Amino acid sequence: QDKHRYSGIVEDCCCDYETVDHLNEEVLHPLLQDLVKTPFFRYFKVKLWCNCPFWPDDGMCRLRDCSVCECPENEFPELFKKPYHHGLPSDDLKCQEGKPQAAVDHTLDSKAFRGWTETDNPWTYDDETDNSEMTYVNLQLNPERYTGYTGPSARRIWDAVYSENCPKYPAEELCQEEKILYKLISGLHSSISIHIASDYLLDEATNLVLRYPNRVQNLYFTFLFVLRAVTKAADYLEQAEYDTGNPTEDLKTHSLMRQLLYNPKLQAACPLPFDEAKLWKGQRGPELKQKIQAQFKNISALMDCVGCEKCRLWGKLQVLGLGTALKILFSVNGEDHSHQTLELQRNEVIALINLLNRLSESIKFVHEMGAAAEKLNEGT
Ligand code: FAD
Repeated sequence: QDKHRYSGIVEDCCCDYETVDHLNEEVLHPLLQDLVKTPFFRYFKVKLWCNCPFWPDDGMCRLRDCSVCECPENEFPELFKKPYHHGLPSDDLKCQEGKPQAAVDHTLDSKAFRGWTETDNPWTYDDETDNSEMTYVNLQLNPERYTGYTGPSARRIWDAVYSENCPKYPAEELCQEEKILYKLISGLHSSISIHIASDYLLDEATNLVLRYPNRVQNLYFTFLFVLRAVTKAADYLEQAEYDTGNPTEDLKTHSLMRQLLYNPKLQAACPLPFDEAKLWKGQRGPELKQKIQAQFKNISALMDCVGCEKCRLWGKLQVLGLGTALKILFSVNGEDHSHQTLELQRNEVIALINLLNRLSESIKFVHEMGAAAEKLNEGT
């Protein structure tokens, strides 16, 4: 892996690769790793049932290895039956793959989170209304990793995402904004592939991502794009309510958020990770924004067609995270919404920060692979 392939400014961004690696290593990765473990950020509300709006069930939901299933009472370890917080009854607990370590956590009382309103995201398809189909998932117990979900079902999703919603560039006529949608999706795809492969399938990671400079570049782009959204929303996120009924943990969450949002090292080295102000400027701006918004909404809806529940969970979370970044950067105080002030849902903030953390992990992985390859080259 040639590390020097990735030097200079990240295309369409405002910081260079070396700075991103350095900031990620020194500041962002450690902070984000701590943040996603806090009670506020580790529970994600999601509807996991198959409800694909595009094609009928192809039997994919029966994949045992990645399905979320109800655990028989006797299969569940005693420890997990004890509610962590203000618990719901223990028979509400579910587990994934029949393994307790992959348990879906139903123990959180929805009243534990206060001060957040229901608000629409114009970029996503999700219906966030609370109902009995919504599950709280403890993300720490369900990490994104290899599940064996592959073949035509997985391929159909990626094909639909790329060909129906964001045609691959370089297509001459593709404008900056369309390129950005493609880059965000490709960057997310790189990150997902890295997480699938990084534990033990190193060759896979190399084959799918590291061998393709543009896929790595798109990963860096996506990271900076999401980072810009987080820092742009700093004042809102600083004021937000992180109360989960655990004062010590909640204070820590707030403090970590402040360190992330107003980080002097970040502000000095990369004050504007991405400059959104230059987009949607032309005559076609508003029309283009509507078109891209509809395309992204379709991508968001496609996540309901992902045939492996754990993959669907992370697919939905990360696409919601991207949708939240798009909402922050483009739907508030923009030309067509100038009167609007930013309002985020709790779930959007959880998705945004968890997405940033996944991207940060992938950047770290790519950087370390590059550094290891350099050392190897020096030794030969
Ligand atoms: P795929 O990753 O399926 O890629 C399909 C094609 O897309 C490639 O052949 C290539 O032409 C193109 N492509 C690949 N990467 C990029 C990129 N970065 N930019 C642009 N084009 C690219 N599997 C798991 O094991 N765990 C998971 O958590 C998981 N989550 C998933 C989430 C979603 C939303 C989806 C759709 C799939 C998920 N999968 C997961 C499946 C996984 O992404 C792959 O589809 C699967 O591993 C098969 O890989 P593949 O080698 O066929 O290539």
